[in-house]
Amino acid sequence: NVRVRFAPSPTGGLHLGGVRTVLFNYLFAHKHGGTFILRVEDTDQNRYVPGAEEYIFETLAWCGLEPDESVIHGGNFAPYRQSERKAMYKLYAEQLVKHGHAYYAFDTPEELEAMRNTYKTENATAQYNSVLRSKMRNSLTLGPDEVAQLLSEGVPHVVRIKMPDVPEDITFTDMIRGEVSFNTAQVDDKVLLKADGMPTYHLAVVVDDFLMQITHAFRGEEWLPSAPVHILLWRYLFGEDKMPQWAHLPLILKPDGKGKLSKRDGARFGFPVYAMNWTDPVTGELTPGFKETGFLPEAFVNMLALLGWNDSSGQEIFTLDELIQKFSIERVHKGGAKFDYEKAKWFNHEWIKRLPVSRYRDSVKELFEAQGITITDEAKFDKVLELVKDRCTLLPDFVTQAAFFFRQPQSVDVAAIKPKWNAQKNLFFIELISAYQSLQTWEAEALEKVFKEIASVQVLKPGELMLPLRIMLVGGKFGPGVFEIAAMIGKEEMLKRIKHTLQ
Ligand code: GLU
Repeated sequence: NVRVRFAPSPTGGLHLGGVRTVLFNYLFAHKHGGTFILRVEDTDQNRYVPGAEEYIFETLAWCGLEPDESVIHGGNFAPYRQSERKAMYKLYAEQLVKHGHAYYAFDTPEELEAMRNTYKTENATAQYNSVLRSKMRNSLTLGPDEVAQLLSEGVPHVVRIKMPDVPEDITFTDMIRGEVSFNTAQVDDKVLLKADGMPTYHLAVVVDDFLMQITHAFRGEEWLPSAPVHILLWRYLFGEDKMPQWAHLPLILKPDGKGKLSKRDGARFGFPVYAMNWTDPVTGELTPGFKETGFLPEAFVNMLALLGWNDSSGQEIFTLDELIQKFSIERVHKGGAKFDYEKAKWFNHEWIKRLPVSRYRDSVKELFEAQGITITDEAKFDKVLELVKDRCTLLPDFVTQAAFFFRQPQSVDVAAIKPKWNAQKNLFFIELISAYQSLQTWEAEALEKVFKEIASVQVLKPGELMLPLRIMLVGGKFGPGVFEIAAMIGKEEMLKRIKHTLQ
């Protein structure tokens, strides 16, 4: 029974790397008929950001990637918030100490600082490790009576994992990277339990992955160096055979491929990096999101799936159901995936074209209303969206492409008509007005026929008259077929706009 988890720390908004981890978890769980768990890892009280947890759930709802078990979805493995599981971790830390795999360390911040200054070398910082721990104040160097006394006096202390005295290679098979090895000499004696009794990530992640019966753990590549610590904890606490299979997901790189995409790159490159707008509660700073920029969740999710994965067929457009069918963790690449904003927009354009307008009409309507355009004729609204959707990349493009259907153009680019304007053209439009006035059927075809007849009688090229007509109706050189526009706008409004420009 496959059980996977996404384990965010509520320290800020969910950026696209985080959502991709969610997606791969979701796809893997659904592909194998498994369960997708969301666990809030909030043991680092200093980095806790109010509102971040709610934001994560709203983002997942917008993306359509709902977990099966979580703080809000419930489940048999509650609580799903680590701060509410605090007491449990302490027991495991004590068990490790009892079996000699961890120890109490009483060093004060000053003592730690002195250690770092004394033992740092030119190319390495000093680590609290299998060598230096013998020089520090901990339950390995102090006598048992002294340790007992310090503990009974409540002297602040942490619990550290004890890396093996004799260095050894820790090897495991990563689902993406294959065999990965670390030598324990490279790893320090990480803190497992802090002085405030809270576990660190290292202890909490292992305990919870065990208790929540996680079978496969997907997380960002930045956690790879921590894997040996986690594997040792598994060995000491639960047995390595119970350990989930690991998959460390490739980094998402900046568009130029130079380094990891960071939250600040959004401002630098001018694109969103968060799924939804994230406003930092302390600074009030707003970082734009994909949702508010006008992306559809279908496109956002599709784009994320291809950041580090493909199905080898060259197919690029996938529905969520197709992704579930075709996804395989073995086809996730080891190398970093370059984020390309132009490609992200291409996905959105494709999805706007493919989806029925009913899927996004409400969002688009809000955008119209924000511009002061009230939509009363719903049927007309849908037809208009259908007419212009091929021209839209982001949802706000609908306003640019279609506002003129519902109100007069804000400005008419007469400068584009003027140079080639003459009395003959003027006459043409005057005749056109009167012909249209008496027209019975107001349809694109009929309008075009009449237009061409008058042009031919006056020996004018219809092509030269179409652009002026477009500019009169739309305000500029854009939009779908001019007679379709005319048919949609209606007789009264159309004639008003022609007259308005002729004056
Ligand atoms: N809490 C960790 C994070 O915020 C989760 C890492 C993991 O999935 O093990 O990235």
